[in-house]
Amino acid sequence: MSNFLLSLTQHIRRRWFYGLISLIVAIGLGVATPRPGQALSLFDLILNGIEYVQLANMSDRQEIDLGGQINQQLVNREFQLSRNSRINSYVNGIGQNLVPTSDRPDIPYHFQVINDNQINAFATMGGYVYVTTGLIREASNEAELAGVIGHEIGHISGRHAVNQLRDAALTQGIAEALGVRQDALVNLGVDLALNLPASRGDEYNADERSFNNLGRAGYAQSGLVTFMQKLVGQRSAPTILSTHPAAADRVARLREMLDSSAVSGASAGLDNTAYRSRISSL
Ligand SMILES: [Zn+2]
Repeated sequence: MSNFLLSLTQHIRRRWFYGLISLIVAIGLGVATPRPGQALSLFDLILNGIEYVQLANMSDRQEIDLGGQINQQLVNREFQLSRNSRINSYVNGIGQNLVPTSDRPDIPYHFQVINDNQINAFATMGGYVYVTTGLIREASNEAELAGVIGHEIGHISGRHAVNQLRDAALTQGIAEALGVRQDALVNLGVDLALNLPASRGDEYNADERSFNNLGRAGYAQSGLVTFMQKLVGQRSAPTILSTHPAAADRVARLREMLDSSAVSGASAGLDNTAYRSRISSL
């Protein structure tokens, strides 16, 4: 279905839905006096403009809307965002540099820094990427940090979170004939971003996307490999490996890619001293 047709049917569906709500309100006011609780919930329903999302063919617009709402929950409840403007703009700058050469450059991206000593990075659908201050400190140079950010962009361009969300909604039985209520999806999306490990296939896919994107953006592709290797070599497993599993296999695969003819020869981002000074305010 073309976008035009899709938005037309959505429009009609919404008009039908609001029509139904006004009817319910009219009946409620005219026939029986609703209890305050009921009146409030109907009012809320209209204010919130509850939408149903068809997970099978989610548009970019719907994915971005949903990602924005999941992001609101994450930054209000789960994450403490860094107020260090130097670090924020540095990380955002690296991310925005990687967007034009990524596999999905046509949606807006947001790169945010979380105050947390654990080594971790997340992505949620619709262009939202998060890295912890612990991870920024753990990286030796900009190419390593760019490798991690590129990996998270890879999850977004591969639409991995959307697919996870669809599977989880079906498993939990919250998908209905009309689709899934958007508010239920937001809660599920927050849970997935924090707790559900990505599949091995999704990890390989995000690594490969990052590896290729690093080369196209001019970064040394070895950055992703050395950072992953560093995590695998640590005595206690860093948090990132609980949501980004199969680390040792990933390193082996990345090593092969680095030895292959696909390597780009790009070499930016390997100056460790320059990196230390860029993040010295952490
Ligand atoms: Zn991952």
